[in-house]
Amino acid sequence: MIEDSWAGVDLLAAVARGVIELASTDRSSAFRLPYPPSLQLALDQVVAAGLMQGLPVPVGVPGMLSWCRESALVEWPVTLPSGFLTGDARLIHPAAGEPTRTCAELASLGREDALEQKAEALLAGLAGACGMVERFAVCRDFLISRPVILRFDPVELLQPRVAQTWKLVKELYSPVPDRFLSEGLVYRCTGCLLLAKLTTEDGPWCEGDCPLRDRVLEPSHQPEKTLVLPLALRLLLALPGRTEQAIRSQFAEQAELIPLGLGVHRVTGDDGVPRAFQVHAPEQPVPAALRAAGTAARLAGGSLDIVVPDRLVERPGYRQAFDRAVPADARVRLVSVSQFTAPQPTGRPRRMHA
Ligand SMILES: [Zn+2]
Repeated sequence: MIEDSWAGVDLLAAVARGVIELASTDRSSAFRLPYPPSLQLALDQVVAAGLMQGLPVPVGVPGMLSWCRESALVEWPVTLPSGFLTGDARLIHPAAGEPTRTCAELASLGREDALEQKAEALLAGLAGACGMVERFAVCRDFLISRPVILRFDPVELLQPRVAQTWKLVKELYSPVPDRFLSEGLVYRCTGCLLLAKLTTEDGPWCEGDCPLRDRVLEPSHQPEKTLVLPLALRLLLALPGRTEQAIRSQFAEQAELIPLGLGVHRVTGDDGVPRAFQVHAPEQPVPAALRAAGTAARLAGGSLDIVVPDRLVERPGYRQAFDRAVPADARVRLVSVSQFTAPQPTGRPRRMHA
């Protein structure tokens, strides 16, 4: 991949981080003034890139946000490595007006100020407060199970069973951003447990992009009682975390949590070989391969299985794109959920569907 095309990746990652920063501010409409300086800086770079190539450029930040919403990223005046993004990738969902998962995945690339780093820093802080890995594992599972607390009930969360966990995690929650309110209601998707919007041009929308049959929305009439995790933890921890919990439940032994990054687990296969794995739900296989290589490099020895729901792995070209993007020296393997939970050669049968 030539240097120019990596500069293009850095540029789109900067725009994606700006879009996420803007969406993270709590305003009634996400994409209003004042714009974060990061977005203005990214705009200047996009304009410079377009002018150098004699291509159309966005007019101001509002123009660039329209591009984020209306134009596929492959149409931008930015040179990307071949096959880096799927053809339909955009940064803002055209109907919901919210950052896409592709946006979060691009914003997670890079060494500085990346979205995944922010999620990892929040988890590292929690791990430090917990002290013991076992306690951290319980707290991490709490976050995965409750990325959106639709109706905060102090009585429930102060029960002895959960009070200690709640005390450790509560700082991570904030009120739901006003723009998710619709006629006094806020919605959570029962499929992914993330935030949702009832009516868009495309019908109901949820942050997890659940298949339509699973996209059943649960309303609350008391949005003031709704608490949510930051977007980074909702999309990068909780969304794949539900699949991770289902996989962990398939093993007879308890998977060991290695508190590295977003969390890596290790299980001993029926063949006696330890397997380290991390579950992801990436829309974009190439950025996912690059992030996985970074995680594997921090894992002392051994290889890392990146387990991804079947419906993503089965997309045309997905596995090939991932495999091509894994650096030659990275010990990373893409595995579908069905493959990962299939019976081992000498083992007990276990199988689940993704
Ligand atoms: Zn959903």
